[in-house]
Amino acid sequence: MVEAVHAAPQLEWDTPLFRQARTQLEQAIPRAGISEDVAERLRYPERAVILTLPVRMDDGSLRSFPAYRVQHSSVLGPTKGGVRYDEAVNLGECAALAMWMTWKCALLRLPYGGAKGGVRCNPRELSQSELAHVTRRFTSDLAPFIGPGIDIPAPDIATNEQTMAWMMDTYSMQKGYVVPEIVTGKPVSIGGSVFRTEATGAGVVMVIERACERLGWRLPSLTFVVQGFGNVGGVAAGELHEKGARVVAVGDVSGGVYDPAGLDVPTLAEWAREHGSLAGHPAERLSHEGLLEVECDVLVLAAREEQVTAANAGALSCRMVVEGANGPISIEGDAILAERGIPVLPDVLTNAGGVTVSYFEWVQDLSRLFWDRDEIRRRLAEKLGDAFDRVWTLSETEGVSLRNAALISGIRDVAAALDARGIYP
Ligand code: NAD
Repeated sequence: MVEAVHAAPQLEWDTPLFRQARTQLEQAIPRAGISEDVAERLRYPERAVILTLPVRMDDGSLRSFPAYRVQHSSVLGPTKGGVRYDEAVNLGECAALAMWMTWKCALLRLPYGGAKGGVRCNPRELSQSELAHVTRRFTSDLAPFIGPGIDIPAPDIATNEQTMAWMMDTYSMQKGYVVPEIVTGKPVSIGGSVFRTEATGAGVVMVIERACERLGWRLPSLTFVVQGFGNVGGVAAGELHEKGARVVAVGDVSGGVYDPAGLDVPTLAEWAREHGSLAGHPAERLSHEGLLEVECDVLVLAAREEQVTAANAGALSCRMVVEGANGPISIEGDAILAERGIPVLPDVLTNAGGVTVSYFEWVQDLSRLFWDRDEIRRRLAEKLGDAFDRVWTLSETEGVSLRNAALISGIRDVAAALDARGIYP
């Protein structure tokens, strides 16, 4: 007779990326000094929604798209996080990204918890009308689980202002009145905030500048490599170029381009806008692997997760790594960089400019009172500067990495709120 095996079933979100987020949490817990009850509550997402979106394609056929939304913690306020359209989207990825959003919001002292969602699809194969159908059905099916006081989506990989406009319109049509505060990253014409589109990339550069001050480095004398040339990487490369730094290589899904004398970033951005990517650009080309190994002072990772791992961390040829993307360095990759003495500006701090200006957008929408660009830039610089200084000081006083310091700081604030509220009932 065959005996039943009663091993504990694996949880649905238990994927390599979720394990990476969990391992980072476990590494930070002993130093964070939080109670075991609080730690246990923060190890898992509060809520996860899995949907199948039926979408009528342009050729008349019907296709099913898996879609997800994960809300990690609502202790500090409504949850907040991006929506990505990508073939690799899965529950574990959303759960990991949602957990990182919780620490990021707490670190920046924003009254939010973390969430993330997405649709598993290849956005480059979909027409505008198919993308609109996917987005509208996703929003409609998510309507019971999102809301200005519940969970507020924003753009992420392969989603943009237009996606947010469709989400805002769909939600508003269902409610019967306009609800701009349901999403952030909208066009300015419907309640979006000036500077939101540039906020993440510009924030990455603000954090780099602050780190350079501490390290005694002069930005214009540094060379940069930027992986990812979309919203985050494209804006960051443009800002670095504008500030006089030498951007020697950039790369996107089509591979990299390289010029040791410094690339003309605005011209490259024009090419990418016109052609959809850097494919076909006449500059010297690099492979994905080759791009990361180019000798430079600072490597900015602004494409996607798991780019620097045990397999290539030893081959990087830079003096500092900057995480513009979420989770671009694996646990093993992180350990190798630490051994090599290469500091990492961690994602939860470095790319927090996006969610910070999203918060400003939500506040402006709720109050129906809008701020100008200078005010937003000033408030963003203040928030990022304050978070950076807290992380830097904690890293020095506790003798931990900047990542650990950022996580400890965020986790402590969430834990303090959870301790004060208690675990219901
Ligand atoms: P995007 O879609 O605008 O750009 C992604 C870029 O990465 C594109 O240039 C794409 O071609 C490139 N890319 C994709 N796969 C690649 C690969 N395997 N190798 C090299 N390049 C590749 O997305 P985005 O909004 O710029 O997001 C990038 C990262 O930043 C993601 O990790 C996202 O979660 C994170 N992030 C984004 C925001 C935001 O406000 N948009 C905020 C915080 C964090």
